[in-house]
Amino acid sequence: MEKPDVLIIGAGSTGAVIATRISEDPNRTVVLLEAGPDYPELINTPFDLINSHNNSYTQHDWGFTYAPTSGRDVSFPRGRVVGGSSAVNTTIALRGVPEDYDEWADLGCPDWKWHKVLPAFNRLERDLDFGDRPYHGDAGPISIRRYPANELEVQHQAFLAASTQLGYPNCEDANNPNDWGAGSHPMNKLGRLRVSTAIGYLAPARIRPNLTIKPNSFVHRILFDGKRASGVEYENADGSIETIQAGLIILCAGALKSPQILMHSGIGPTDQLNQFGIELVGEEPGVGQNLSDHPALSVVCEAKDRGLIDHDKPIIQTILRYTAEGSSKRNDLQIEQLSFAGKPGGPPLFAIAAVLEYQFGRGELRLNSADPHDLPIIENRFCEDDRDTIRLAACMRDTLRFTREGEVAELIASISFPDPKRGLDDEVLTKLCKKFAASGYHPCGTIKMGDKSDPMSVVDQYGRAHRFDNLVVADASIMPFVPRANTNLTCIMIGEMIGEWLRTDFDYYGSA
Ligand SMILES: Cc1cc2nc3c(=O)[nH]c(=O)nc-3n(C[C@H](O)[C@H](O)[C@H](O)COP(=O)(O)OP(=O)(O)OC[C@H]3O[C@@H](n4cnc5c(N)ncnc54)[C@H](O)[C@@H]3O)c2cc1C
Repeated sequence: MEKPDVLIIGAGSTGAVIATRISEDPNRTVVLLEAGPDYPELINTPFDLINSHNNSYTQHDWGFTYAPTSGRDVSFPRGRVVGGSSAVNTTIALRGVPEDYDEWADLGCPDWKWHKVLPAFNRLERDLDFGDRPYHGDAGPISIRRYPANELEVQHQAFLAASTQLGYPNCEDANNPNDWGAGSHPMNKLGRLRVSTAIGYLAPARIRPNLTIKPNSFVHRILFDGKRASGVEYENADGSIETIQAGLIILCAGALKSPQILMHSGIGPTDQLNQFGIELVGEEPGVGQNLSDHPALSVVCEAKDRGLIDHDKPIIQTILRYTAEGSSKRNDLQIEQLSFAGKPGGPPLFAIAAVLEYQFGRGELRLNSADPHDLPIIENRFCEDDRDTIRLAACMRDTLRFTREGEVAELIASISFPDPKRGLDDEVLTKLCKKFAASGYHPCGTIKMGDKSDPMSVVDQYGRAHRFDNLVVADASIMPFVPRANTNLTCIMIGEMIGEWLRTDFDYYGSA
């Protein structure tokens, strides 16, 4: 293969978008390396990737685990396939609140202010319900719609009715930047089809002669010539090792794999690289630090009517976005009705999830060994910061109200978790949060962008490495902290922003 202008590592929510946007310029050659398989035709795509009614947890997964506060090992799914985690996720298509991006701007990233990212959010979507509004788009690659009332499952109809009964306002569009309340979730699905970035972006782009997608290519490390990234070393499906040289390397392997790849390449905290005998290219203490996510805890209920629970139905359809009492962070809590829980054939369970959307605490990701096949050690450290615990416990308290008052309560035979016999006062709820808060599957922040004066920031606001040439990072890892929303749309927005900068001002990123 001739040396491409650009080599992108990881074809997920962000990498697929960047590959698509850069290759719009027919004179720019792009190679997209992906560890997982590729399914170029919908007809040959496995059902777990089509089926947006539930996540795909195992068939196209990396097998990560993490240790939350209690120290148990819990699985931490991440997509390993062209389309990345956008190809396996729940398809909730939510934007953060404007304040999230304004706060990023204040942290040394002024070009990420809300009014600057809004055009990218609009460009990525085809909102089938509100595409004509000024804060929406109607012609982008990712189709978004909300379940109308007549398509809602009984649990979700009850959830919206109960929200009204409990005094929350109705919210017709959770992506209206100023709104809050309960409503039908915006989702990037059409019927059952999950509109991943493989489908929305890469399907129409893959015929371009200047774009090469190389699946089953597991990148071990980025190669350096001094401080200049010059290529990558990767493993083919048959175990053979190859290298490719490229003009510019763009790392888009996600918040859990991108820091690992950097560390295996010799960029990271020196003590960790020394511990495993990895030759140092340059110290970056921020790599793997600042892990930010959405801690969550569910109330699990046994339904009165077994016929209500069908694991083949959409797992989620509705959302309540609101602000914790006394909090200065707007919309820092979510309550989500889940149609079912547990395993098919088991007791007829459904759940209501309490989710903390603005997290103060931070976790950490560390190398496990010098072998790129070994997955890193992940410590989320949920609810070690009291500001998080207090608000998640409050959210649990609000969630439990749904089990006592209003239409959801009428569907419930008994509560399976938390055990109502424990009293469930504030002290008990706080303990439960500290022990059982689990990931909302939205890790980010592990290679954060920011001003060079911040020693923990690794890349500048355009994704360019501060201290290395011809190296860009662009995925969930560069977010300074998790936005108050499920992260897929924000990752695609990052792809749109950095993809557009690369397309229109390539030289700014280094010479090819
Ligand atoms: C089960 C699940 C449910 C979720 N539900 C939602 C939801 O409903 N709504 C929402 O907004 N968000 C959801 N998320 C989160 C969201 O999907 C992610 O935040 C987002 O997709 C991350 O994008 P990314 O580009 O950073 O990484 P990814 O999309 O994960 O892409 C990284 C890509 O890099 C590849 N890669 C990694 N390492 C290597 C390597 N060494 N060599 C080559 N390739 C490599 C991976 O295989 C992958 O394709 C969910 C995530 C999961 C896992």
